[in-house]
Amino acid sequence: MPVIHWFRRDLRLTDNPALEWAADQGQPLLLVYIHSPEEDGSWAPGAASRWWLHESLQRLDRSLQDRGQGLILRQGKAAQVLDDLIQQTGASAVSWNRLYEPAPLERDRGIEAALRKQGLEVHVANAGLLIEPGEVATGQGQPYRVFTPFWKSVLQRLAQPRISPAAELPPPPRLDSEPLATLGLHPGHAWADKLAGHWAPGEDAALERLEQFSASGLARYAQARDRPDLDGTSALSPYLHFGEIGPRQVMAEAGPPEPGNRFLAELGWREFARHLLFHFPQSCDSALNPRYTGFPWRAGAEAREDLRAWQRGETGIDLVDAGMRQLWDTGWMHNRVRMICASLLTKNLGVHWLEGARWFWDTLVDADLASNSLGWQWVAGCGADAAPYFRIFNPDTQAEKFDPAGDYRRRWLSGPRPTPIVDLKTSRQQALDSYAKWRDNPDLV
Ligand code: FAD
Repeated sequence: MPVIHWFRRDLRLTDNPALEWAADQGQPLLLVYIHSPEEDGSWAPGAASRWWLHESLQRLDRSLQDRGQGLILRQGKAAQVLDDLIQQTGASAVSWNRLYEPAPLERDRGIEAALRKQGLEVHVANAGLLIEPGEVATGQGQPYRVFTPFWKSVLQRLAQPRISPAAELPPPPRLDSEPLATLGLHPGHAWADKLAGHWAPGEDAALERLEQFSASGLARYAQARDRPDLDGTSALSPYLHFGEIGPRQVMAEAGPPEPGNRFLAELGWREFARHLLFHFPQSCDSALNPRYTGFPWRAGAEAREDLRAWQRGETGIDLVDAGMRQLWDTGWMHNRVRMICASLLTKNLGVHWLEGARWFWDTLVDADLASNSLGWQWVAGCGADAAPYFRIFNPDTQAEKFDPAGDYRRRWLSGPRPTPIVDLKTSRQQALDSYAKWRDNPDLV
């Protein structure tokens, strides 16, 4: 009786505990990916993520073929697809690695209960986090809302991980896959070619990227990480998002779990984001800090025009436009520039953080519901552990500090520059006034 491993965002063969469990059962092994974007609720993968996923599934299938296996693709409701596969093959067990976003989490709980009720064995594991939600809590047993104590508590529990090699995979039962093209993931236009010029998705590329970064980037990470003009960060985020590499594998290269380990702390922010979204599932759609529910964001035609200028990199603010063009051209943007672009949109232009989050969602190859929601709310000042409302990035002074010779801006900007759509000084004051007014509103809880 075959065992089914259900691949989701664990698109790798190394250090994949649920896959390893399935392979160890010594039965024929059915490896399946189910495309069911409607089951992600209002956050179905955006265009850049779909492109990445297409490439990643293709590469995973290739490396499975090399091992006498293959990926069975299906689309439809996951519960129904799994039921059909169980009927067709007589499978006796199903394994998968956990996801932490609200919609898939709820779906998976339902599927697990239904399968167990039918008498199937279900094995669910953790391939995506160093520490899972529920493993750490404040002294009062509450989820952490502030990063520093969260990370301190996590660090105490982290040991240097041991990475398991790619599992030996038993052969599959005879079953045809749906062709990858029928999933409709590839956008099929020139934009995808641009992304392909910058990225090689898949597990092999992820491992290569980690090795390269570990050899030449890690030692200077703390100095270079804030400089968009340097190649100072790992660029592992899309690989981590799709599980082409796992955080334990990255941690194994990152050095000891100490508070001063800057690179590891960034993996810590990734963990923190997932913990927050798990404990506060509404926080991908509304401000985590309830005081900001109903905040008077700008709306109407003029705000929409400003949003479009921001999206197209036509605000006339150099560092912001450079960042937005880097995003459009490569599906990725440097973290510091993400903060500056988000600050201009939410603070200087007064546009709702969700508008920015939606644009990032569609255009980032690393679009990730937990990290994106945390990033936007941190900048907008409405998250749990947010930058205070009075912190408003000045893109020009940030540019002087972090792109001192202007290399980053020159790389992404060409031709005549538009006049700025907003005056940085007056819009900053307006933002401060409206945040202060809102904060002091006695009607608020
Ligand atoms: P490195 O500096 O090399 O860090 C290593 C890894 O740590 C990253 O790959 C990432 O997985 C994690 N990480 C680093 N910084 C953060 C952070 N601030 N929060 C959470 N995890 C982090 N990251 C995403 O993965 N997906 C998103 O959709 C996303 N949206 C963001 C939106 C905004 C407004 C902001 C300010 C940040 C956002 N981030 C997001 C976080 C961060 O910008 C990216 O993770 C980082 O730029 C990825 O580049 P890297 O892999 O070179 O990072």
